[in-house]
Amino acid sequence: MSRAQQITVLGATGSIGLSTLDVIARHPERYQVFALTGHSRMAELQALCVRHCPRFAVVADEAAAVALQAELKETGLATEVLFGVQGLCEVAAHADVDAVMAAIVGAAGLAPTLAAVEAGKKVLLANKEALVMSGALFMQAVKRSGAVLLPIDSEHNAIFQCLPGDYARGLQPVGVRRILLTASGGPFREMPLEQLAQVTPAQACAHPNWSMGRKISVDSASMLNKGLELIEACWLFNATPAQVEVVVHPQSVIHSLVDYIDGSVLAQLGNPDMRTPIAHALAWPQRIESGVAPLDLFAIARLDFQAPDEQRFPCLRLAREAAQASGTAPAMLNAANEVAVAAFLEGRLRFTEIASMIEHVLQTEPAQAASSLEVVLAADTRARQLAEQWLSRR
Ligand code: NAD
Ligand code: MG
Repeated sequence: MSRAQQITVLGATGSIGLSTLDVIARHPERYQVFALTGHSRMAELQALCVRHCPRFAVVADEAAAVALQAELKETGLATEVLFGVQGLCEVAAHADVDAVMAAIVGAAGLAPTLAAVEAGKKVLLANKEALVMSGALFMQAVKRSGAVLLPIDSEHNAIFQCLPGDYARGLQPVGVRRILLTASGGPFREMPLEQLAQVTPAQACAHPNWSMGRKISVDSASMLNKGLELIEACWLFNATPAQVEVVVHPQSVIHSLVDYIDGSVLAQLGNPDMRTPIAHALAWPQRIESGVAPLDLFAIARLDFQAPDEQRFPCLRLAREAAQASGTAPAMLNAANEVAVAAFLEGRLRFTEIASMIEHVLQTEPAQAASSLEVVLAADTRARQLAEQWLSRR
């Protein structure tokens, strides 16, 4: 390789951002950090700048930018600090950038992720909410710009690895019958149903197998995360919702499977550590070391599978319905869920009310064709309003 690839890490202070920087730091000859972004935790972002010496850092607003710029100057760093959505889009689309890790959580990641796509970058997609919101427009932009889209979500990265290289031509021609999307079932898989209304944010965030940000941890506990992933899989792999089956697999060792028409089923296995899919996508089509321990099958000894329980996890049904309704329905599902999860984490909503709030929003506002980004963003705004109204009235 002639020069190190320049990498922008959107959401560098988060769980995926930090895992990405861990992998990058193992390969200084291959990768150089071009830009780091963070929305809060400014001390951590500053420490990351000192460690990785990026050309740019991006923060939430002007005041935070002035403060960080002054701190960095004192340490002798030449890093330039930008701010706001414009700053995020600038470092995502910059001509000198080779690859962008899209690891901002939620709808806030949509604009910079799309900017990277439209600039034809190699886009490492962790921010599933961006694709769920604007799937058709997002995938059209990928085609138009020639961007290379590589999934970071462990399940989608697994599916990508189990599909033939030419899967982009569509599912039928390559003989795929089904995609089997595995799910751990989260921390409440076996809790008595009557206790679910009382669970706390700390319990919901204590995932049995994965260490993740708080929002995705709550989504995993409600299994809305698997619903978002179902929608994500349909867009990434040109599948219908009926072709994606959710399989509860509590050990989180098989990260997903592809079932072919000849009866072959291919699976990708590994320890539950996001550095594996991150390293895979960074180096694709090559392989590099990630720091993840080798899988010890004898220590694991057994793998279990169950059908998902939709009474326990109504969010999964709601997501499947939104996937089938298509148009702006997935954007509204996502927006209502973001409001619900924030309210749950603040102690303003019961865990079991997350599904009630989403269902209310989806029943109140019919889906429209997602014909433009403006339409999608208007549906997102409307869903947030309806969710807040429901919250204050109930
Ligand atoms: P996190 O909460 O740990 O980190 C989120 C990052 O986004 C932080 O850097 C934060 O500063 C930034 N951010 C938050 N709000 C922002 C805003 N309004 N504007 C700009 N930046 C903002 O989250 P995470 O667990 O790292 O997840 C990131 C994304 O990756 C999510 O979309 C999640 O669904 C996806 N993902 C995460 C995992 C995992 O293991 N953590 C696995 C699969 C997919
Ligand atoms: Mg996942």
